[in-house]
This record gives sequence, structure tokens and C-alpha cells, in this order.
Amino acid sequence: MNKLIYLDNAATTKLYPEILKEMEPYFSEYYGNPSSIYQFAQKSQKAIDLAREEIAAVIGAKPEEVYFTGGGSESDNWALKAIADAYENKGKHIITSKIEHHAVLHTCEYLEKKGFEITYLPVNEEGFIDLDELKKSIREDTICISIMAANNEIGTIQPIAEIGAIAREKGVFFHTDAVQAFGHIPLSVEDMKIDMLSASGHKIHGPKGIGFLYIRKGIKIVPYLHGGAQERGKRAGTHNVPGIVGMAAAARLAKETLKGRIEKETSLRDYLIERIEKEIPFAVLNGSKSHRLPNNISFCFRFIEGESMLIMLDGKGICASSGSACTSGSLDPSHVLLAIGRPHEIAHGSLRLTLSEENTKEELDVVVEELKKIIERLRGMSPLYEDFLQTQTGGNSNV
Ligand SMILES: *Cc1c(COP(=O)(O)O)cnc(C)c1O
Repeated sequence: MNKLIYLDNAATTKLYPEILKEMEPYFSEYYGNPSSIYQFAQKSQKAIDLAREEIAAVIGAKPEEVYFTGGGSESDNWALKAIADAYENKGKHIITSKIEHHAVLHTCEYLEKKGFEITYLPVNEEGFIDLDELKKSIREDTICISIMAANNEIGTIQPIAEIGAIAREKGVFFHTDAVQAFGHIPLSVEDMKIDMLSASGHKIHGPKGIGFLYIRKGIKIVPYLHGGAQERGKRAGTHNVPGIVGMAAAARLAKETLKGRIEKETSLRDYLIERIEKEIPFAVLNGSKSHRLPNNISFCFRFIEGESMLIMLDGKGICASSGSACTSGSLDPSHVLLAIGRPHEIAHGSLRLTLSEENTKEELDVVVEELKKIIERLRGMSPLYEDFLQTQTGGNSNV
């Protein structure tokens, strides 16, 4: 068996041992229910209070604006459903984009069935929304703009501060799905005028099943789960104390290491992009070159069936993805790749490699060498590629 090369950090990340260590006492030693009155349980409550402060500090929020949830999907669901519920008297129009995560898109589809009208903004070839188009799409009855900070498939980082400024000027709430951005790029809810922000623990080397939703003070919100008084009565259920402690430890670590990590990942990313562009023909980079997550590499390889490529990479111990963990297994090409204008047959040949700071240049060299062999083999079996080569007699292979 080959040594594992893990390049799917957008799907999930390794829980770092030092983070696990911080969580451990809250499983078995300090197991008290934080809502209980005695001092033993107050240990758990204190850990939650501290975690809330640490997380708030990362995005420039106040601790009481941070609500713990069961992860990024829950945060996205809650943000949109809560705004819809609380502000439907003001209007029933929401603006989002065509390249959002399904946690946002499917929530919007649900709200459409409830009588809300949703504008799905298109994006350009690099995956950016058009700010003028955003402005024009805002109406009297618009209550919320939900645009992701960074895309999970192609890595494009949206102009978040500009979107926040537009939303604020028009008196519309701005929610951002920052699950891929939080802990990976600097974010400030004040500077960027963000009203609600979703984040998740397991995308930043924390535990799975924990996330938070930042909700700016003053926004009316409807409880997501009804029951006990946890999370100021807005999200019932006994707190996931180890998860919360782990999420905060991950956020703190991400904040401390952010600068060096961005530098390291960016240099690995650009090295890999450059090698692929130079050494593999008919490869197109997806997303923006300049405004891109430091750890995201996304390509479409023409005349390749993505699923076969992933299986063959897996055979070499390389964990990669076609784009989104949520769409693998379905035969439809990614909605994100279609939205940036990739034709179906090209979108099918997609490969997403997402780094962590633990990856090495040596690993990336192995990946490029394996990828070259795999792509050559798959193209060798492709009748489409053969036809294409026939039409290319004249010898220009530079497409
Ligand atoms: C992973 C992800 C989510 C979902 O987060 P979970 O914690 O897995 O529920 C939402 N949005 C984006 C952009 C993601 O990458």
C-alpha cells in the first residue's frame, strides 16, 4: 500500500492531536451539563464561555453574537430560515448565487416552496458575481443577500467587503457562508459589514458536527431548535461541550498560524498549478488565479472522465475529489462548473486538490507524476480523444 497523500482538505481535515487533547477532558472528566447549577458543571459552562470569546475574537465579533450549531449546514439553514421567518413582513425576496453550497441552495429552494422569491446571481468564468448586477437585483422587498465568502469547489474568493457595503447601504442583511474561508483567510464582520456568518469546525482541523453562526446584535432571529434555553433560547439542546472546546481550539490555532500558513499553502498551490499547466495538455484551471483560496487547486482535463481519474488516484493512495464531496456519487456535473461556463463533457473531467500545511512538495511531485500517467492512459482509451487528434492533423496541440 502506498503512503496516503491526503489532498481533500475542502471535504474535511484531520483533527489535530493538540486540539483533541484540549477536548479530551470534556468527554470523561468534566462531563457535567453546562446548564446545571453546581460548580462541577460550571467547569463546562466556563469552557463554553471561553470558547465563545475565542471564536468571536477571530472575526471581530462580540461573544454574545456567536451561536454554536451542529456544523456549517445547520448554520446556513438557520441563517436563511430565520431571516425569512422574522422578516417576511418586510419582504419575501432573497438574493444568492448559482455557485453556493447545497446547504444554501437547497434551503433557498425550500423557501421558494414557502412563497419566497430567490434571485440566483450568475457568475463569470472565474466564479465572481457582478457587483452591478447585485445592486440592480436589490428590490424594495429584498430582505437578505447570501453570498459565500469562498467557493468550496473552485476556490474563488468573492469581494466580500464590497458586497457587505452594498447590502448595508441598501438596508438588506448580508449572510455569508464562510465555511471554506474561516480560518483560511482573514475575515472581519465589522470591516466587511457581514450580518451573519456560517463556519464549521471540521474544515479547520477541528471536530465534525460542530459549527457556529455569527448573528449581528439587533437582528431578530427565530429559534432554530425549540426546547431548553441554551444559546440564549435560540438553539435548544445540551451543549456539545467537547465539540465547542475543539472548535474554539481550532479557531485559535488557525488565527495564530494564519499568516505563515497562507504563505506556505500559496506557494505549494502555485507550484502544483504551474506543473499541471506545463506538463499536462488540455488542462484548464477552474476559478481565479489571483483571488483564490490558498489551498485550492481545481482543474478540468479534457477527454477525461473524472470518476475514473479519482479511482485510479485512489489506487495510488491519493485522496482527491471531483469538486464537492456532496455531489460525488451523482452523475450530474457540478453546478459550480456549469455556472462558470464549462460544457458538460469538460465539467465531467474535473479534479479538485485541496491542501493543508502538512502537505509537502515531494507529495505534489508524486501526484503530478501519477496524474500524468493516469491521464495518458485514460485518454488512450477515449474515442473522443482519438477523434480530436484526427482533427488536429497539422499538429497544433496547444488548446
Ligand atoms: C463543508 C461546507 C458546508 C457544510 O458544512 P458541514 O459542517 O459539513 O455541515 C457548507 N458550506 C461550504 C462552503 C462547505 O464547504
